[in-house]
Amino acid sequence: MTQIIDLRSDTVTQPSKGMLDAMFSAKVGDDVFGDDPTVIELEEKAVTMFSKEAALYCPSGTMTNQIAIKVHTKPGDELICDESSHVYRYEGGGIGFNSGASVRLINGDRGRITAQQVLENINPDDIHFPVSKLVVAENTSNRGGGSCYEFVELKKISEACKENNLKFHLDGARLFNALTETGETTSDVGQIFDSISICLSKGLGAPIGSLLIGGADFIKQARRIRKVFGGGMRQVGYIAAAGTYALENNISRLNEDHQKAKIIGQTLQSCNFVKEVLPIETNIVVFKLIDIIKNTDFLETLKENNILAVGFGPQTIRMVTHLDFTENMLDDLILTLKSF
Ligand SMILES: *Cc1c(COP(=O)(O)O)cnc(C)c1O
Repeated sequence: MTQIIDLRSDTVTQPSKGMLDAMFSAKVGDDVFGDDPTVIELEEKAVTMFSKEAALYCPSGTMTNQIAIKVHTKPGDELICDESSHVYRYEGGGIGFNSGASVRLINGDRGRITAQQVLENINPDDIHFPVSKLVVAENTSNRGGGSCYEFVELKKISEACKENNLKFHLDGARLFNALTETGETTSDVGQIFDSISICLSKGLGAPIGSLLIGGADFIKQARRIRKVFGGGMRQVGYIAAAGTYALENNISRLNEDHQKAKIIGQTLQSCNFVKEVLPIETNIVVFKLIDIIKNTDFLETLKENNILAVGFGPQTIRMVTHLDFTENMLDDLILTLKSF
């Protein structure tokens, strides 16, 4: 069988032998009754890592984000985020559907907003306007091509939120990719956000699962909303075990994914079918094709060569490196790209 090089996302990984062993040997109980020791262990691990009070294991990052928005806002409130944010673009209109909240979009720099922009977009206390309640930052930014926030800017946004009585939520689906590059600790991150969502199923390689982390009262409310959303699960320790395994084994290797992404980027720079490569900061490669090549045609050509990627807007392609993308696959990919 020919080997498929799947770079559509860092969610396409298969659980490793070690991860499967951890899953099969997990001790489980009914987590809706709070009886699953493996889930408790994972949630406690997240609490310790981020120096927060409590955590909640959920089926997806969409759910952790949507629960956070639901707890932090009420209908008619407004949240502030970049226009390319996952919470706004890729969660099926969930902000309106689940929370009845309004959204103030900021045109940030590759997905990153500034404290100044936040301050400029907080509504005055006037009955005409929605009540500004929440800021959401995404780090790394997916549509920003895996761009990382500078920690000082996040800290400034955090201060702006505190001064204006707003909550600050982190969509950290790929937070560990960001921390790998910028060097802050999870504890540093815990200090500036009211709530944090991390995905175990992206670069960390677990098959399923995300964590929502925050204060005790926040998580108590979040647990109720998770049940309402249908996310209360029973002997879920079998998959939570994969999450603990991922946190223990798959963070320190993320720099390998970043290194491979950089090499792909360098190769693309020298390809005549490429117009522009976005700066590569982590494991996401986004590039634009020259005008005469159609996005869909290019993806088809890649596919004929057993390479999978995704379209990411007009003339734009995204490739994401991950732990199942090997050195050999990288070599094959480079040869193929150079042959076009
Ligand atoms: C993948 C992703 C999520 C969550 O996605 P799920 O597929 O629901 O787990 C949230 N935010 C960002 C930036 C993501 O890339």
